[in-house]
Amino acid sequence: MYFAYYRKFRAMNKQQPILIGVIGVGHLGNFHVQQLNEISNIKVSGVFDRDAGRAKEIANKYNVPHAEDMSLLLQNSDAVTIVTPTKSHFEVANQALDAGCHVFIEKPITDSIHHAEQLLEKSELNQRLIQVGHIERFNPAFQHINNLNQSPKFIEAHRLAEFKPRGTDVPVILDLMIHDIDLILHLVKSKIKDIRAKGVCVVSDTVDMANARLEFENGCVANITASRISQQNMRKLRLFREDEYTTVDFMQKTVEHYTLTDSPPESASPENTFEISGKRRKFIMYDKPTVTDYNALREELAHFAYVIQNAQTPSVDGRSGLDALKVALMIQDLIKSN
Ligand code: NAD
Repeated sequence: MYFAYYRKFRAMNKQQPILIGVIGVGHLGNFHVQQLNEISNIKVSGVFDRDAGRAKEIANKYNVPHAEDMSLLLQNSDAVTIVTPTKSHFEVANQALDAGCHVFIEKPITDSIHHAEQLLEKSELNQRLIQVGHIERFNPAFQHINNLNQSPKFIEAHRLAEFKPRGTDVPVILDLMIHDIDLILHLVKSKIKDIRAKGVCVVSDTVDMANARLEFENGCVANITASRISQQNMRKLRLFREDEYTTVDFMQKTVEHYTLTDSPPESASPENTFEISGKRRKFIMYDKPTVTDYNALREELAHFAYVIQNAQTPSVDGRSGLDALKVALMIQDLIKSN
């Protein structure tokens, strides 16, 4: 316990870099180390992987220490990022919280509600933060629309990926769809009234393609499609409001905006204004705002360090991770029962 308190105050001392370790340095963990290494107020305390050879390889690549034993890394860290397969998130995060570390857990928080709730309880009890890696919240295109205070009436989400065996330990709902579930819950601040879902297993033993329709108490409807056996990659969110349509492309990091108006303002450029005739004469105005590009993973990890040092709540905290998980598991159960 002494170590936990010592580290809490050490981590909040902004004169010193915060010590963050990375647990699980496979595909994504490699990028965690790369980005953490480049953030000025962070020092990578070390890496640990069940595969010791991989841990050494990544440690050498980024010139950081590697730990042979996870508990040694936990002792020497203020916080850790957990980038192991989903099935091990609970066990690793639980041990990290017990050791007094703040934890960043890659999405999904865990694969069971009971485990996620246990982690939330422990983090509160031990006064440690949990941030969950719903990285699309930090995508520059999403950040752009997030500032627009949207209250959509209808949402269409497509997250289609070419097949890769990585991630197939969990159904596509926990692997890919959960990103959109989190974004939608964040945008539509209303309770879910009804869920319908369908899905199929095609190449793996778990669901590879799924569609879900969420109906909210405020009337908004979200239609979400996720596939990991697509021929093309696509990550798009389309938001419809009365007289407004916005499309967010997470891969291209672009936003396009269409507004229906009775009369365009004088400043509107003619090439972006289209007249339509229907019951009433209307104009569609098109806009493609400039979205400043940046690395979303770096932004997400810098946010983690910032909230620790400033004793704030992460924008994607354990509660958001749990809420997204609950909806994802409801969708999974519906698909199973179908
Ligand atoms: P991966 O299989 O490439 O890497 C996982 C690594 O963890 C491997 O090196 C493995 O040896 C190690 N490992 C396994 N169990 C361990 C344990 N108990 N302790 C320590 N190390 C352990 O997987 P990945 O694609 O890097 O995915 C890792 C996590 O990141 C998953 O939870 C996945 O859902 C998530 N992920 C998130 C995104 C995103 O967009 N945010 C993208 C990809 C993956």
